[in-house]
Amino acid sequence: MRVLLLGRNGQVGWELQRSLAPLGEVLALNSQSTDYCGDLRDLNGLAATVQRFAPDVIVNAAAYTSVDKAESEPQQARRVNAEAPAVLALEAKRLNALLVHYSTDYVFAGDGETPWQEADPVAPFNVYGSSKLEGELAIQASGCAHLILRTSWVYAARGNNFAKTMLRLAQERDSLNVIDDQFGVPTGAELLADVTAHAIRTVMSQPELGGLYHLAAAGETTWCRYARFVLEQAQAAGVSLKVSPEMVGAITTEAYPTPAKRPNNSRLNTQKLQKAFALSLPEWQVGVARMLTEILEK
Ligand code: NDP
Repeated sequence: MRVLLLGRNGQVGWELQRSLAPLGEVLALNSQSTDYCGDLRDLNGLAATVQRFAPDVIVNAAAYTSVDKAESEPQQARRVNAEAPAVLALEAKRLNALLVHYSTDYVFAGDGETPWQEADPVAPFNVYGSSKLEGELAIQASGCAHLILRTSWVYAARGNNFAKTMLRLAQERDSLNVIDDQFGVPTGAELLADVTAHAIRTVMSQPELGGLYHLAAAGETTWCRYARFVLEQAQAAGVSLKVSPEMVGAITTEAYPTPAKRPNNSRLNTQKLQKAFALSLPEWQVGVARMLTEILEK
C-alpha cells in the first residue's frame, strides 16, 4: 500500500508517521518538503504530488489550526482548510484512492449539553469552523472514498499543549484561573493516529464503512477540571507547584475574551465509530496521564 501523509510535523501528523508505517510505503511531507510539494497553499503543486506518487491512501493531517489568527486571515484559512482538501478529494477520486481527513466539533453551534452526533445540523460560528466545514463538504461532494474524522481538544507530548502550559504557569505564578464553562474531551494525537491506521485497514477491505465519524476519547471535562487533573498528576509525581490543584480558580468564557468565539459544548458522540470499527475508546484521563508521565520524566 502506498500512503501519502501531509502535515507530518503536526501533533497528529507526527504520530501518524509511526502508526501508518506498518501499512506500507509512506511518503510523509510538510510545507517545506522539496522533492514533492507538501504545501497546502500551492494547489497545483499538491495535485502534482498526488498524481506523481499515486498513493492508495492520502492522509491529510495538515491544517490551518490557529483559531484566533484565522479571524484576521480568513483567505489563508480557507485555502488550507477548504480549497486544498477539495483538490486532494478530486485527485483521490481520479486515482480511486482513499482520502482520510480530520475535522472539528467547531462545525457545530457549540450550544447545549448533548454530545454532537454526525448527522446533527452544522452551524460554525468562527472562521476556522467555517473553513473546516467547507473542507468536509468538498470532500463529500467529490464522491471520492473518504474517512472524515471530527475530533476535539487535541494534545500530544510533542510541541506545546494546554497541559504543559498549565504545568508551567502553576510553577511560575501565584494564582491561576481557567475557563470552567466549556465542555469537551482531551484527545491524544496517539489515539487519533492509532485509530486512523485501524480504520484505514478496515475501510480498505470494507469500503462501505467509509464516511464521516466522530473520534474523541471517552468522558468529558472542562478546561478548569482538566487543569486540576494535570496538576494533581504533577503533584503526585513530586513536582513542586506554587498553585496547587484546588487553588485553580474557575472562570467563565466571558472573563477570558479571545478574537474567535469558542463553543461551550465540544462533546462528540463517538458511538458510530466505535460500532463500525469494533473499538472501545479509552477515558481521556488515561492518555493525559500517559502524556504527563512522558513529559515529567524528561
Ligand atoms: P497542528 O497545528 O499540530 O498541526 C497542523 C500541521 O499542519 C502543522 O504541521 C503545520 O505545519 C501544517 N500546516 C499548516 N499549514 C500548512 C500548509 N500550508 N501546508 C502544509 N502543512 C501545513 O494540528 P493538529 O495535529 O492538532 O491537527 C490535526 C487535525 O485535527 C487538523 O485537521 C485540525 O483541524 C484537526 N483538529 C485539531 C484540534 C486541536 O485541538 N488541535 C481539534 C479538532 C480538530 P507547519 O507548522 O510547518 O505550518
